[in-house]
Amino acid sequence: MCVGFTNGYSDFASDRVEEAIVAAVPGSAVSFNRIGFFHFAVFLGWAWPKGDDSEPIPLLCHLSGDASTKPVASVRLDDFRDIVQSCTIRVYNCKCSASKRSQVILNCLYLVGKAGYNPLTNNCEHFVREVICGQSTSYQAVWTLAAPLIQLPRILLGSAVVGAATSSASSNCASKFEENRSLGLLNPERDLIEIILSKHGLHLQGVKLNSVCTREFGGLSTFPMQFLYTCRSCSGSEKMAVCRPCQKLCHAKCIFRTGIVSENVCRCSHAMKSEAVQLPLQLDLQEESTSSVECDGSLSSSC
Ligand SMILES: [Zn+2]
Ligand SMILES: [Zn+2]
Ligand SMILES: [Zn+2]
Repeated sequence: MCVGFTNGYSDFASDRVEEAIVAAVPGSAVSFNRIGFFHFAVFLGWAWPKGDDSEPIPLLCHLSGDASTKPVASVRLDDFRDIVQSCTIRVYNCKCSASKRSQVILNCLYLVGKAGYNPLTNNCEHFVREVICGQSTSYQAVWTLAAPLIQLPRILLGSAVVGAATSSASSNCASKFEENRSLGLLNPERDLIEIILSKHGLHLQGVKLNSVCTREFGGLSTFPMQFLYTCRSCSGSEKMAVCRPCQKLCHAKCIFRTGIVSENVCRCSHAMKSEAVQLPLQLDLQEESTSSVECDGSLSSSC
């Protein structure tokens, strides 16, 4: 997996957070150097709020504490920029396929709200390795457990910093997301993932795949590169470029030209709407790890 050293990484000072976000690959790991301990997280990509033209949010998923749940930490969503504090940001290079990274993003979303934190057996690094590799390991904890006497100060320092980091990270970002807000995220395969939040990013009400036209999210001019398909059945002499959700929901029986990647806006009139796909809210990571969440071999040697 990509939380290792074979693929390399880039470090960014905290005042270069915008550059770090540009360098981060959606569906892969980042970490924050909290002096003596790295706080790990997964960058999910830019998420557009539904229904208005609010600015998109660089979405991060991590295992962290919260003022309302302290001392119990849980998997939560936050704005990348709120987690940096004054720490150096480490962005790991990632060579994983778009489909694998899309699966990692879903794995993260399925675990939002899951509680339980222990610096040695279930920390932020275990969480990241579990969603990326399908196995829960923390090399920081292994090093600490295996440590002879010389490592003792590291144990004390690591534990103390973790506690401080989780509690302080939470207090200033707990109210970032409005109650019952929906966010739209284009995953690396350019499918639209609708994330329906509750409890300010601490819980999800639902995760939907290609459920609604991409026009619903953000300002028309700010939407990122998406697949647009030219409908040959509806457009007549005019070309009608529609988004992927509309291709499935509104034009299910139409004939299409091959999609092109474009920053343009969907032109669908939604005349023939059908049912959207609601993804299950539960996922068994153990089962999943043997198939699509499988680690690619090139990464396993070092991490
Ligand atoms: Zn559309
Ligand atoms: Zn059509
Ligand atoms: Zn439509």
